Parts: sequence; structure tokens; C-alpha cells
Amino acid sequence: MKYENSAEFAQKLDQQDPLAKYRAEFLFPTFTKNPPLYFVGNSLGLQPKKCSEYIQKELNNWHKWGVEGHFHAEQPWFSYHEPISKKAAKIVGAKATEVVVTHSLTTNLHLLMVSFFQPKGKRTKIICEGKAFPSDQYALETQLKFHKLDLKDNLIEIFPRKGEHTLRMEDIQSKIKEVGDELALIMIGGVNYYTGQVMDMKSITEWGHAQGAIVGFDLAHAAGNIELKLNEWKVDFAAWCTYKYMNSSPGGVSGLFVHEKHHDNKELNRFAGWWGHNKERRFLMEPGFDPIPSAEAWQLSNSPILLMAAHDASLDLFDEIGMEALAAKRDKLTGYLEFLLDELTETHKEKCSFEIITPRNPAERGAQLSILLHGLGKDLYNKISAKGVVADWREPNVIRVAPAPMYNSYTDVYQFAKVLEETILEI
Ligand SMILES: *Cc1c(COP(=O)(O)O)cnc(C)c1O
Repeated sequence: MKYENSAEFAQKLDQQDPLAKYRAEFLFPTFTKNPPLYFVGNSLGLQPKKCSEYIQKELNNWHKWGVEGHFHAEQPWFSYHEPISKKAAKIVGAKATEVVVTHSLTTNLHLLMVSFFQPKGKRTKIICEGKAFPSDQYALETQLKFHKLDLKDNLIEIFPRKGEHTLRMEDIQSKIKEVGDELALIMIGGVNYYTGQVMDMKSITEWGHAQGAIVGFDLAHAAGNIELKLNEWKVDFAAWCTYKYMNSSPGGVSGLFVHEKHHDNKELNRFAGWWGHNKERRFLMEPGFDPIPSAEAWQLSNSPILLMAAHDASLDLFDEIGMEALAAKRDKLTGYLEFLLDELTETHKEKCSFEIITPRNPAERGAQLSILLHGLGKDLYNKISAKGVVADWREPNVIRVAPAPMYNSYTDVYQFAKVLEETILEI
């Protein structure tokens, strides 16, 4: 696609955009004089306008039914998670039985690792990406500790090569081979939160399985951002939060995936709760955990209905649009941002340059570009923030910008580049 650096061109793209109408389905923040240029859908997605309606409906059900709402509300709370999990499964390329929406992300990662990190004999090691998101680091560290395993010997982090910013799949492959039969688990972010790099999850899963290891992914930055085929790729397990690209409220519920090949395995270790127990017998209150033969077995508690309602409001938009259309706009929108940043760097090269550390290949990235600022630092970030840009600063000098295809426009991206240019000229 040939892009142009003009407001008219951006407007033309907006007019031709089949998803343009969805912008009006979202509430933009009001803390700035004008609606901000919001590019942090990778941290907290915007609120769908219908969210309050979905939540209000359940508040009304609570009012009308009290405890009877568990069985008599229009969508009974007893099984409230079922249709929601089914919609979520479509987004991650899973069968309906392979996904359940419940708890929070880090909680789910722990629950899944209780089942799927089973060190035995010399097979005790975990491979993850270097500088993983802190919560994942702490989860891995304490899982090892829980099994009385030393962190230094058993956590193998893979870093980019010297002078590079992203991981090479060949390096992941050779590390997996090297660790071989000492490898118990691979747990990697499907999309790296810092660089926006998309991992080749299909191949990583194959390489891991070839060594007899279990393969799981943290999909915090992948779910609702890139197309996933968890069932087809034979991923063992995965979990994601829904408040980033999935616009489902701050601290909202998480989704978890367990491949169907594990559903009948009653030998797996579990930290179980009553909402994972045989549904017909749940209220008999008898001892002896009988896991539901689906991902639901990992669900401990009855659903947090209000958070689930918020997620449902967003899932209905995803259902209507579909990941394919979303991905098509995502690539065009991110490509436009890339084009404008490259132009800026070309025009102002005596003053600064923007090095995009996210892969240039659209197949290896989603909606985020991470920009390394050479020549200008936090001052630039603070100044563009004061002008109504909401982006994300990471030490030492990276700005992460995520144009979300569901509500960001080409004009947003154009205006962002204009604000950047204006500010460069002022500094
Ligand atoms: C956002 C994010 C988290 C957050 O975890 P919560 O349990 O939802 O607080 C964890 N891991 C990664 C990779 C993330 O991007």
C-alpha cells in the first residue's frame, strides 16, 4: 500500500474504512480539553458504550431475583460463563470446551502451571523470554520455589542477540534443542509486551513437543490483537487478560485455554474449586473432586457476574467484526504509523531519529510499534503528553504506541505524527 503524509489522505482512508463506524461505540477519556489521541489500548482498552447497559442488566437481575438469579435471570448466573467463554474461544482459535473465562491472568497462569509444570527427575527446566513481564517472572520464580528448584539452574531466559532488539526464532529453536530432555515447560509471551514482536507459536509448540516438554503462552498482548489458532497449533495451555486489546474493564476477567487432549486426564495436579466440579453433582456438596472434562475444570469459583457482563459487551463487538477484518485494518493502520515515523526521521535526521524496534514485517507484529528515541528523551514524551497524546513510556527511552483498529482512526495516527513533528521543532 502506498501511503501519503497528508490530512486529506488520512481522511480518505477513514472514509474507506469498513470499521470506522465502531469508533462511535467507545467512550474516549474526558480528562483532556479535547478527546486525547489514545494509543494505549495495549494497556487498557477503552470502554464500549454498551458496557454500562450490560452491567446494569445484571444489577437489575440481582435486584429482581436476589439469589434466584443464579437460575432465573435471563442468562442464569450458574452458567453465565458458558456463552461468554464460547465467544472468547472464537477469538483465540479454540474449541468452545477449551476456553473458560474466569479469575485474573496471573492467577490463571499459576493454576495452569500447577497442572502443567510437573518437574520430574532431570526434566525440571523452564524456558521463557528474557525480561518477561514482571508478573510472569514472579510467577515462574515462585513456581520453581514451590517445587524446591533453584531459579538460577532451572529458569532459562532467551535474550535478543547483542545489538538486536527482538528474538530470533532460530535462537529459541536451538535453545529448546540444547535443553532437550531437561526441559519441562516453555512459557513465553505470544506477543512481547515491550517490543510488540509476535512469536511463531506454532513452531515453538512443535519444537517443545519434540523434546517432550509442555508449551504454554501468556497471551496478554496477543488476545484480540492477532489471529490465534491455539487448537490447531496444539498449544497445551494459555491465558490472557481482557482489559488490554479486549476492552473489558480495568482488572477485568481473564481467559484460559487448555487443549482438549488434556481434558480427560484426571491425574493432573490441580488446585481445584467447586466451579470446576461435575455440574450435575455440584450442589450435592459431596467430597471428592470430579473435574469437568473441559477447560472449566480450572475454574475455581462462581463467576464475578459484573466483570463478566463488561467482558460480554466487548465480546459482542468482536463477534460482530471478526478477527479477520480487525487484523486487516490493524496492519494498514500500523503500517501508516510506521510510514509517518520513517518520514519524520528522514526529515529531521540532524535532530533525532526514531528507531522502530518492533519487527518491520507485518506478520511478526500486531497493533503496537515500540519506538526507541535517539537524540530526544523523556522531554519529548512529556511534551506530547501535555498536547493530548496518551502513549506509554518505558525506561530508558522507548515509547510504545498502539493504534487499536477497533476505535483508532487513520486521522488519529496522522495527528499523532503532526504533534510529534511540532514538538521536535520546539525542542
Ligand atoms: C498485562 C500483563 C500481565 C498482567 O497480569 P494481571 O494478572 O492481569 O495483573 C501479565 N503478564 C503480561 C505479559 C502482561 O502483558
